[in-house]
Amino acid sequence: MTRTASPDLARNGRPYLYGGEEAAIASMLSAGQYNHGAVTEEFEQRVAGFLGVSEVVAVASGTAALHVAMLAAGVGPGHDVLVPSFTFCATVQAIIATGARPRFIEVNPRTCCVEPAEVLGALTPHTRAVMPVLYGGRAVDLTPARPALDEQGVTVVEDAAQAFGSCQGERRVGATGVVTCFSFGPVKNLTCGLGGAIVPRTPLEADTCRRLRGLGIIESAARRAEATTYTVDGFGLRVQMSPLNAAVGLVQLDHFAEAETRRRSLWRAYAAALEGVGGIALVDADVPRTVPPMCAVRVLDGRRDAVFRALRERGIGVGVHYPPNHTQPAFSAWHRPLPVTERLGREIMTLPFHQHLTEVDARHVAGELRQVLAAGAGQ
Ligand SMILES: *Cc1c(COP(=O)(O)O)cnc(C)c1O
Repeated sequence: MTRTASPDLARNGRPYLYGGEEAAIASMLSAGQYNHGAVTEEFEQRVAGFLGVSEVVAVASGTAALHVAMLAAGVGPGHDVLVPSFTFCATVQAIIATGARPRFIEVNPRTCCVEPAEVLGALTPHTRAVMPVLYGGRAVDLTPARPALDEQGVTVVEDAAQAFGSCQGERRVGATGVVTCFSFGPVKNLTCGLGGAIVPRTPLEADTCRRLRGLGIIESAARRAEATTYTVDGFGLRVQMSPLNAAVGLVQLDHFAEAETRRRSLWRAYAAALEGVGGIALVDADVPRTVPPMCAVRVLDGRRDAVFRALRERGIGVGVHYPPNHTQPAFSAWHRPLPVTERLGREIMTLPFHQHLTEVDARHVAGELRQVLAAGAGQ
């Protein structure tokens, strides 16, 4: 029998608005503020304050954050960037956009994140950067690999697209001394509509990122207003964050404590309801340090596709995050065998996860998953 779940359960991810976002956009529209300006700078300062860092550079997307951060770190043609294959394709596209080569590495299947030993094992003289992906919002601590990376001049650029608000030890991700990139896309922990941000390591790196995001023009609002010319100081993209998006982000940031609480409770409700269920393994998200944007499980014994289809038929919005990148046609030039990742790609399944859902919904989804498994889907 096919039951119909609530429409919210049919969505894997969904933005959550606290109220106030629409008014914030409307006021930007009527003020004629569409281009990078004071409100974007206010958003940068508020995010910096939240993270406990001195500089944040806002950009148009998480992908743009990764691209600009790598360019600022000097990544380009002839360089290798170590990156897990098990990530969103945006991570890889950002590497390719710099002209560098992605070198795909494995992840730990328990956490879906890279380990320091894997990074050290893949280092070559061509390696210029390492891009750990904070899968499911979980912090990745590469401290044990840092001496070797520093000695070789390898920069750590974190893809923390999913990890806004998460902690590594006592510090927020972004405040741990590496270059960090966040996404504020629609289904992330905090949304601007679309948007992203870089946390650079030094004021100089921040200036480089600002030049790279804005057509290479040396930024100074006062100078632009008064001067008859401007200075183009080098190469630059056109990926600033619009004040329309920044205004949404400011409202979301005001309510972020609620996002932290609700996302953690939802994840914990899933974990409790799935306790002892055979045939699956919950990906360890390290809650409460993590603010989770998703809840991922592995469906074992080759049953994922059948279980996925059965749940969709029951109106449950399960997803697959992610099909491995090294097997994508676009990235075939950098293919190498990665058995752990290939297996994860066949096992991974994400459960509906967003702030419209309650603990009751999590128990309902877990119940449906248990039934589908017991009914023998995929056996
Ligand atoms: C969302 C996401 C990105 C891209 O962020 P956008 O804001 O959509 O450009 C990159 N990497 C990971 C792991 C993501 O989840």
